[in-house]
Amino acid sequence: MSKRDYYEVLGVSRDASKDEIKKAYRKLAIKYHPDKNAGDKTAETKFKEAAEAYAVLNDENKRAQYDQFGHAGMQGGGTGGGFGGGFSGGMTMDDIFEQFGDIFGGHFGGFGDFFGGGERHGARQHRGSDLKIQLKLTLEEIATGASKKLKVRRWETCEKCGGDGAEPGSELRTCPTCQGMGEIRQVQRSILGQFVNVRPCTSCGGKGRIPSTRCRACEGEGRVKGTTAISVNIPPGVTSGNYITMRGEGNAPQQGGARGDLIVLIEEAEHDIFIRDGDDILLEVEISIPQAVMGDQIEIPTLGGKVNMKIPAGIQSGKMLRLRNKGIPRLNSHYVGDQLVKVQVKTPEKLSREEKELYETLAKLDGQPQKGSGLFRKIKSVL
Ligand SMILES: [Zn+2]
Ligand SMILES: [Zn+2]
Repeated sequence: MSKRDYYEVLGVSRDASKDEIKKAYRKLAIKYHPDKNAGDKTAETKFKEAAEAYAVLNDENKRAQYDQFGHAGMQGGGTGGGFGGGFSGGMTMDDIFEQFGDIFGGHFGGFGDFFGGGERHGARQHRGSDLKIQLKLTLEEIATGASKKLKVRRWETCEKCGGDGAEPGSELRTCPTCQGMGEIRQVQRSILGQFVNVRPCTSCGGKGRIPSTRCRACEGEGRVKGTTAISVNIPPGVTSGNYITMRGEGNAPQQGGARGDLIVLIEEAEHDIFIRDGDDILLEVEISIPQAVMGDQIEIPTLGGKVNMKIPAGIQSGKMLRLRNKGIPRLNSHYVGDQLVKVQVKTPEKLSREEKELYETLAKLDGQPQKGSGLFRKIKSVL
């Protein structure tokens, strides 16, 4: 299958600026967007073709390579700056939204509100796009749960016009795109018959009327950028990759309607001394030979502070000791994990004269392996 020239696909000249390329792609992406062209295979192909062209021309390295070698330069299998294996096989819709969803950000919010995401919610109203924010938590915070204040930059409903984009006092006129219906009806033919596809009008936001004078505070957008502090409560026991959806705390949509959601994505910060293993916490502690031989009581750090731990006399190096319920509570459960302490016996490398004499005395005593010999046993585990 021969591919169309990427510049031709986007309808731009070979010396087009990055901005021109982005604009051209956005226009095509909106035109052929699957939400607008449900079931239309040609539109889907065009949508993918445009995304592929944009993926290359928007990236300076890839564009240079494409300019020099054409499509042949793009199939480098992941090396030499090519797009990689997945590319020659074509991009999936999910890839496109994942990589280029943000092209609709900034002026338009996100795919969600721009393409009438409101329909999914049963109303003929636009819904703001969702926002994602990452929240890094320490193991201590994860163990107890945490209450955090997040600074979120998002679209806020314009206070001056209340979100409808009209300058207060200005008249509203019938939307020319939908003739006041608030929705666009498209008839589609397929082998199964005719379908009428109804979608909210994007010109008026489904309201059927548009202001004769745009609100000067938001330029008719119905929303302005703002920063807000939002409190979020994190339950104990979360892990990296968990997320909390805060309904209605995302972006305000254009021209009024419901807010999107705020998605708080949890990330676990690396700890200086502890390693998390599910609900358990692992820690290694070094003890001296006399401590190992005679036993001791030592202070051990845990996520909840220091505790005393008994080292039994005669402990072997590598032995795991368990501190019950000093680990992490399991999410939505009463179970609490343990802290496991791996005991390492430290063999001294430098001895004072006195110590050396004592070790020599020990070595001469019964029950110790003789100098020049040892006890042999098959290894149980290499770990
Ligand atoms: Zn306004
Ligand atoms: Zn309209």
